[in-house]
Amino acid sequence: MSPHDVFSDLVGQDEPVETLRRAAAAAARVVVGDTAGGAAMTHAWIFTGPPGSGRSLAARAFAAALECQREGQGCGECHGCRTVLGRTHADVRFVVPEGLSIGVGEMRALVLRAATAPSGGRWQVVVIEDADRLTEAAGNALLKAIEEPPPRTVFLLCTPSTHPDDISVTIRSRCRVVALRQPPADAVAAALIARDGMAADTAAWAAAAAQGDITRARLLAADPEARSRREAVLAVPKRLTGVGACFDVAAGMVAAAKSEAATSVVDSDASERSALEQALGAGGTGRGATGAMRGAAGQIKDLERRQKSRSTRTQRDVLDRQLVDLAGFYRDVLVTALRAPVAVVHGDVAPQSEAASRKWSPESTLRRLEAVLACRESINLNVKPEIAVETMMLNLWKG
Ligand SMILES: [Zn+2]
Repeated sequence: MSPHDVFSDLVGQDEPVETLRRAAAAAARVVVGDTAGGAAMTHAWIFTGPPGSGRSLAARAFAAALECQREGQGCGECHGCRTVLGRTHADVRFVVPEGLSIGVGEMRALVLRAATAPSGGRWQVVVIEDADRLTEAAGNALLKAIEEPPPRTVFLLCTPSTHPDDISVTIRSRCRVVALRQPPADAVAAALIARDGMAADTAAWAAAAAQGDITRARLLAADPEARSRREAVLAVPKRLTGVGACFDVAAGMVAAAKSEAATSVVDSDASERSALEQALGAGGTGRGATGAMRGAAGQIKDLERRQKSRSTRTQRDVLDRQLVDLAGFYRDVLVTALRAPVAVVHGDVAPQSEAASRKWSPESTLRRLEAVLACRESINLNVKPEIAVETMMLNLWKG
């Protein structure tokens, strides 16, 4: 196995990677008609793990190995591997929910297409990122397909956990679970040095600050804007000097999330809109044009609704990442106060977390950490971000 094969980004996950390698090799034997290997292969998988543990990375790597033309090794070099990694393989579909949930219509269409024979002669693979965002009806549509899978179809579901809030018990019971863990920061740093040629001190800092999330570590190392957004979040604790400040800081944090989210969707919004307008404009002005116009208005409205839903979701994702950074700071304060033998997350603001550890009791630090986690939970439960963040700031200030 090459050090640069499709699994090499899954840092510190030896056991799950071994399982996936064995399954992909068995799947390759099924493709050439050796049914004895079938037992190691399963048609439905769930990838679980905390944010940044690489659920989507693992699912994509496994999909690539299933389509790999070299006995399912996931060589990373053949046409099968490369097109899956580039998301252009004809038999591999990625479902990335654009709104807060994946609807039943989308799921039914997908299940139908997945039932067709794979055009490349290997496997039809459906990767559902954020399977915890399936609506109940969509989950039921998927369940039917998983219960009686077409012989060459594989479903890969990514979800934070197998808790019934994240994935239905019946779907869970039909799937094999791959549990990923948060890779240790030093393993991520080592990968950044070896694979990306990153300088050792940058790699160590980025891996720790990204709390083991290799994709985010790369972004922090490369993008000054991402770094300054992170610094703004880490400046929050010292800005909380009174009730008024709490409201100001809360408003600033939500506004920053909104603007970052808006920047990240602006291009796709505009190109989707112009593509739709062009498609509709091709309708002409002949007979039936009035009816066509009515239909067009409906389609534009539908697009606007989906774009709004995507923007809401992106905002929540950005806010959640800010909260993870903030939680890291309070964790550092606690770790410092208790002299725990573990590394701090935000080494670059260690003087602040040390000062706070002398000022606050461990109990009050723990209450602050809990306030951040409660805020994440509230936003997850659809509480208005402004309200959840204001409540958190007040609790962070009071301690
Ligand atoms: Zn390959």
